[in-house]
Amino acid sequence: MAAASKSAGNDAVRVIFLGPPGAGKGTQAVRLAAYLGVPKISTGEMLRTAIAKDTPLGREAGPLIDKGNLVPDPLLVALIAERTAESDCKSGFVLDGFPRTLPQAAGLEQMPGGDPRGFLVFDFEVPRDELMRRLSGRRWCPKCQATYHIANQPPRRPGICDVCSSMLVQRDDDMEAVVERRLAEYDRRTLPLIEYYGARTRLIRIDGYRSPDVVFQDLLSAVEVSA
Ligand code: AMP
Repeated sequence: MAAASKSAGNDAVRVIFLGPPGAGKGTQAVRLAAYLGVPKISTGEMLRTAIAKDTPLGREAGPLIDKGNLVPDPLLVALIAERTAESDCKSGFVLDGFPRTLPQAAGLEQMPGGDPRGFLVFDFEVPRDELMRRLSGRRWCPKCQATYHIANQPPRRPGICDVCSSMLVQRDDDMEAVVERRLAEYDRRTLPLIEYYGARTRLIRIDGYRSPDVVFQDLLSAVEVSA
């Protein structure tokens, strides 16, 4: 399917993707951001880049991510405040993986343009056993961060990134024991955001247990309705 790119014009389109790891947020964020012509902001990607560059943020985040724990709220709020202040975010952005806690949501609310009523919030729902299946089959390019799945979305050449030809690996935090911990963190710290945003803005529930194309059509319909 080839959706035409839609310019966000003067009305900024700010989108939040909520949902557990493996729910398809990353895949859909790439597509929706391209469609809207706005940047996709993935905190997981930003942290992994910081780890690869061995920055102070990366050194603090690395051990936490490896264990499946969340990185401290003040670091994430500062990261997003800085990123969303950049000029390419004037027309909006798609947030993938932020906020993940109530203090992060409160931090976002304090930022310019941070009023939750100005956000379109999607909550991706996928059964637990399907999340485990997706995460255990996920493969990742350490160089360009492209993501694949060995069955659902395989690269053209097995084990090789389509984009930059690097060797694909399994992320350490996609190993089963760490995934359990990430899901527990999601239940404890991220789930309350559904009520938080439900009370403040339009929260759109998305059945993520369908093909990426079908899910994307749902996102587009919701974006059109709110335009
Ligand atoms: P993701 O790629 O979104 O699954 O994120 C990978 C890991 O990065 C998470 O398991 C957390 O350890 C960390 N992380 C990403 N985003 C956040 C966030 N908003 N708050 C805290 N930790 C985060």
